[in-house]
Amino acid sequence: MRITRLRLTGFKSFVDPADLHIAPGLTGVVGPNGCGKSNLLEALRWAMGESSARSLRGAGMEDVIFAGTATRPAREFAEVALHAEGLAGADEEVEVVRRIERGAGSAYRINGRDVRAKDVALLFADAATGAHSPALVSQGRIGAIIAARPAERRAMLEEAAGIAGLHVRRKDAEARLRATEANLERLGSVIADQD
Ligand code: ATP
Repeated sequence: MRITRLRLTGFKSFVDPADLHIAPGLTGVVGPNGCGKSNLLEALRWAMGESSARSLRGAGMEDVIFAGTATRPAREFAEVALHAEGLAGADEEVEVVRRIERGAGSAYRINGRDVRAKDVALLFADAATGAHSPALVSQGRIGAIIAARPAERRAMLEEAAGIAGLHVRRKDAEARLRATEANLERLGSVIADQD
């Protein structure tokens, strides 16, 4: 998978719409302290479905919305759109959009179609990437990897190998199996009552 474009509106310090086209090859982002370099990486992780506000340096998810400054009022929503090639075996680019509105939570779209957070997480997990991909290295992450417990390291390796999505599907399948078994049991007692 290759990310080709990132559009931010009202996300953290990016109050004005910002549109970044990422050319093939190496791209560097430089700027003074506090200009928003880490916010860009967080925007990527957020659009990929990050569900932990803390790992985005906030107390709640709405903290990603531009909070206002002395001269500019706070915004009511934040939106990040990312374009990527090579997702879900598709030849053409896929556009993934996440939007959050104050008091209304997050909504996701893939190529303009409303989807669930889980659909976005699975899309990236199958491409061996995603909000927790070891390819996205935030500040302090190296230390965290060194100090990680074996189970956490295993989760990182599974994420890198692209099999993290299988765990989600397995959980879903097990839940459906349990529901079907409960239905069968209920059916059994209804049949027994009628005999
Ligand atoms: P450094 O080089 O020090 O790591 P950086 O370029 O990575 O800095 P970031 O940490 O990405 O900078 O950006 C921090 C800036 O983003 C701060 O000025 C902070 O006030 C601003 N910021 C974060 N969240 C919001 C928000 N919700 N609304 C407005 N500004 C925000």
